[in-house]
Amino acid sequence: MLVSCPFCKQKSTWEENPWRPFCCERCKMIDLGKWAMEDYKIPGENVDHSSTEEEKEEVDRREK
Ligand SMILES: [Zn+2]
Repeated sequence: MLVSCPFCKQKSTWEENPWRPFCCERCKMIDLGKWAMEDYKIPGENVDHSSTEEEKEEVDRREK
């Protein structure tokens, strides 16, 4: 039975293939790494400095 690798579309045998459905270890690792990279992205990393600036202005206004 032949299966096409989800990563590089190369045909490989399903039987006796430890990397199935990938054609080789490299394709499997790249594909797993791709998913890991996507999981690694953390949204909201940007620190919003504008709020602290506004707080400072608020304090200034109260002091005057
Ligand atoms: Zn492949």
